[in-house]
Amino acid sequence: MFNVVKGTHDVIKEEAKKYSYIEEVMTNIAVIYGYQEFRTPVIESSDLFTRSVGDSSDIVRKEMYTFEDKGGRNITLRPEMTAGIIRSMVNAKLFAIQDYPVKAFYCGPNFRYERPQQGRYRQFNQFGIECTGVTTVERDVEVIALGYTMLKYLNFGKVKLLINTLGDEQSRENYKTALKEYFGKHIENMCSDCQERYKLNILRILDCKDPADRPIIDGAPKIQDYLTDAAKERFEKVKEYLTKLEIPFEVDQELVRGLDYYTGVVFEFHYTSQNGNNYGAIGAGGHYGNLIKEIGGPDLEGVGFAFGIERLAKVMEDDNLFPNLDNTTDIFIMPMGDKARDFAVGLAFQLRKAFYSCEVCYEQKGMGQMFKKAERRNSKLAFIIGDDEILNETVTVKKLDTKEQVSVKLDDLDDFLGKYFNSESEHHHHECECCEGDDCECKHDHEEGHCCHHHDGCCKKA
Ligand code: AMP
Repeated sequence: MFNVVKGTHDVIKEEAKKYSYIEEVMTNIAVIYGYQEFRTPVIESSDLFTRSVGDSSDIVRKEMYTFEDKGGRNITLRPEMTAGIIRSMVNAKLFAIQDYPVKAFYCGPNFRYERPQQGRYRQFNQFGIECTGVTTVERDVEVIALGYTMLKYLNFGKVKLLINTLGDEQSRENYKTALKEYFGKHIENMCSDCQERYKLNILRILDCKDPADRPIIDGAPKIQDYLTDAAKERFEKVKEYLTKLEIPFEVDQELVRGLDYYTGVVFEFHYTSQNGNNYGAIGAGGHYGNLIKEIGGPDLEGVGFAFGIERLAKVMEDDNLFPNLDNTTDIFIMPMGDKARDFAVGLAFQLRKAFYSCEVCYEQKGMGQMFKKAERRNSKLAFIIGDDEILNETVTVKKLDTKEQVSVKLDDLDDFLGKYFNSESEHHHHECECCEGDDCECKHDHEEGHCCHHHDGCCKKA
């Protein structure tokens, strides 16, 4: 017996369908916002991350899966995707024609050697976007709005959006000086990580998770008091726009994010399930002023975010936000005997060619067992085929919901299925009848009308 490696997990069957659903919804919205898909390698040169994520970050210091390959190259399994995406933009010379912004969306696995716990894995999947060649604050807001819209279309009701700014270069210098002075008085009593952070990148101390350090950190100076006028104005603009777009937010002055490349606005999306489960930030991102230049590109800025698919799937499961994703097989074919089995091979081939999903019971089973199999596959129709049917060139069709049984001539089968499944789909896509306003049990976001997109999942009458 082999088990999965610690901190990793298999994503199979229903769960994989949930992941695909999340990715599909996010992709559709990214495309509406003008993004194109990028797929970059899982392995990159280790330097890429030391340079971008930063050698004072926990990710680079403690969490990277790094190894030397057989050619002596220093390789790392990507711990995040922004650096690789920017590298690909630089390599493909996408900045050369100066048609900005360059917009990428991406999805895939990342690797961090973290302590596995609720919502934290060593291999986890992200869906993210990067918008590069950004100069204006409107672009920052557009990106936050994109993340928010994705969550709304995934049926999230209330989302907590935390924002902060790391200011411009001058603001950060002023702030770091103030932090040096403040933490200088306390650092001896803080955790060993913080002592290292104090030397390497003092901002990182604000990100410390050690509860013993919290009171000291809570008393630290706040960035807002060290912002230059320009940085202050830019952050005010972000807040004004979010208010105008009716995107609720809270300013969290301790939000600095765990990656060194952020400058300007940073943000996190949080959500607590009804049962009180909090899996950490479900998505996060921010503006980066120097990353593109550091990776060898021109002096351009960018803004982006990534959502964690595992965390999204968990909260969506908890709060029943998924639509009905059950597998259904339109037709379950039940051949009785050798001749019928032989006939079923061709029939299934033709049905699948016409895009009906079907399964054949080639195993010798009794009728009862075959109906059970059909039921497990949520089949709509069962085709019963025996010697008589073959002789008369017919199929006995049983509608599994009404239990009604009819004999259909093979020549008429196309017509029959066309009519049956068309009326079925009409039945499925009629106006949602589950929206009973706030009293409805489905917990979906009725106000914004999203419920209707997903009525399969919540409709009491389904
Ligand atoms: P980051 O790349 O650290 O900004 O994280 C972006 C998002 O990825 C987070 O908000 C999480 O949803 C997700 N994420 C980060 N680390 C992990 C992890 N170890 N396990 C699961 N999801 C993660």
